[in-house]
Amino acid sequence: MSKSRVRGVAALVSTVLLAASLVALWAGSAPAAGACGVGYTLNQWTGGFTAQVHLTNNGAAVSSWTLSWSFGGDQKVTSAWNATVVQSGAVVTATGESYNGALASGGSTDFGFQGTNSGTNAVPTDFAFNGVSCSGDSTPTPTPTSPTPTTSAPPGSGCAGAAFCDGFEDQTGSTPTGSWQASYPDCQGTGTVSIDHTVAHSGGTSLRVDGGSTYCNHAFALNTTGITSVGAVKYVRMYVRHTTALPTGHVAFATMTDAADGNKHLRLGGQNQALQWNRESDDATLPAQSPAGVALSVPLPVNQWSCLEYMVDGSTGSMSTWLNGTEVAGLHLDQTPTPDVDAQWLGRSNWRPQLTDLRLGWESYAGGTDTLWYDDIAIGSARIGC
Ligand code: CA
Repeated sequence: MSKSRVRGVAALVSTVLLAASLVALWAGSAPAAGACGVGYTLNQWTGGFTAQVHLTNNGAAVSSWTLSWSFGGDQKVTSAWNATVVQSGAVVTATGESYNGALASGGSTDFGFQGTNSGTNAVPTDFAFNGVSCSGDSTPTPTPTSPTPTTSAPPGSGCAGAAFCDGFEDQTGSTPTGSWQASYPDCQGTGTVSIDHTVAHSGGTSLRVDGGSTYCNHAFALNTTGITSVGAVKYVRMYVRHTTALPTGHVAFATMTDAADGNKHLRLGGQNQALQWNRESDDATLPAQSPAGVALSVPLPVNQWSCLEYMVDGSTGSMSTWLNGTEVAGLHLDQTPTPDVDAQWLGRSNWRPQLTDLRLGWESYAGGTDTLWYDDIAIGSARIGC
């Protein structure tokens, strides 16, 4: 193993901050011998695991790729990020997405997946890249002893690949401090933000918002460092829990200031009891609030943690939104006007948001009240996953 590859493994391991038990190795052999190099980082707990895969193309440039392998036990992939992963029996095939499907010679990309298993969880040794073995003609790296599973690493709290990652565990008081500041943008009423040491998605701490109804009871926690830590393409992943179903009237629970739109806000919230995006400057909504449009969105479940992810691409003016790993069709903005979805939003041409901050909280323009918790906020330039 060369020096540079050792450093690569160390860097990969250092990104998995919450791993309770961890193993990383390079399957495959020297770069010239096999079709690819694979760094495979496991984060395990009783009954489940995540695997982060760092894939290097050792051959000629490709416009698309698959990486396949077989599991030695009863591992079952349940979700994936930055690749489409399908499993048939023990055989798994990951296919690159449109944004990471092309790999130059020597180029690399990262993807990952979550799965369930019982018993041992050995690192696969038979990786193949576009059908060609990655182990070359030398003996594959021996599989290390699988670490003892623990129960201290909950699924879904990982931040691998994120530029910003915050689970509020460094907040010791009852008032947000450090990266988060209480913010009452227009006027302050009964709404409050606080640090909750009794409710958490992971660890023991989360951000709590007690949101009041009507305009002056807005309450937010403001972060100015996460959104600006990545480029024009911004992926945000958060876990959110709330007590009251989204109301018929318009509310927002996550807003971002758009410097390219007069510092007006891009708002994620709800209307007609389903999730929606709203552009403050002209009140455009995504989806359109027609019955057909609303039907293409989904409610935000109450009394449980939901994994909410979104992507805003400031260079193309497009957005995608996922709830618990599934993209919400009505919350998809691209450059093709779709009736009931983004046709109204695209009525303003050349919308190219330059987002400068993130506020998590509650903003009700009618009568909606809610109590919400936020945890495990991650921001990156690629999808982070749940
Ligand atoms: Ca936490």
